[in-house]
Amino acid sequence: MSDNRIDRYTAKRQTMVERLVSARGITDEKVLNAMRTVPRHVFVDQALADRAYDDYAAPIGDGQTVSQPYMVGLLAQTAKIGKSDTVLEVGTGSGYTTAILATLAERVYTIERINSLSNRARKIFNRFYYKNIVCIVGDGSLGSAMYAPFDVIVVTAGAPRIPMPLARQLSEGGRMVIPVGEEKNQTLNLVIRDGNRFAVTRIEPCSFVPLLGKHGYEAKQVKY
Ligand code: SAH
Repeated sequence: MSDNRIDRYTAKRQTMVERLVSARGITDEKVLNAMRTVPRHVFVDQALADRAYDDYAAPIGDGQTVSQPYMVGLLAQTAKIGKSDTVLEVGTGSGYTTAILATLAERVYTIERINSLSNRARKIFNRFYYKNIVCIVGDGSLGSAMYAPFDVIVVTAGAPRIPMPLARQLSEGGRMVIPVGEEKNQTLNLVIRDGNRFAVTRIEPCSFVPLLGKHGYEAKQVKY
């Protein structure tokens, strides 16, 4: 890759953060800085690298998409990630959101149900020296009993309701951000654990691909 190309993407990335993330109300400087550094173009389909910093959910194969820049900023800001936090992400997809979370947190476990997407993301993490990410293939609607509890859980697919196994894997005071609603339109929910109680706040409308699996939608019901 020539220096010119590196410069071009860096410039596009700064513009993306200003116009598509900061101007729309994301104010957490740590989140904005993470988005200024993580190279979004390496996570999208290479044929679409030039459009990686545009305002859309780019396709990444297998009917899945990488979330829009603003939405990734909103997920990270709402979850209030601290640098010693352990994070679980459900829905690795391209790995872009994972890389943002890994820039903010101590360690990120990320679960993806589609093997090929998980492998693709894992290769990018290795190539760009993200050393605090653990990739898991499986049904993320069940969370990960092996690595629980988590200070933060970020679900990047829309669930029909809040999966209780996931909520129970939050640490005390832990936060989960999760889109909840119908197959195509959901509301981003923030769930905060307080002992055995879970306080739920509705943040704003959003549109993610469906969460499948035991506590998601059934695969056969869903049309992409
Ligand atoms: N965070 C991703 C968004 C990917 S889209 C990114 O930045 O690219 C959501 C992803 O969730 C898809 O890859 C889909 O395959 C995955 N997914 C859906 N249901 C799942 C489940 N039960 N367990 C794990 N992954 C799931």
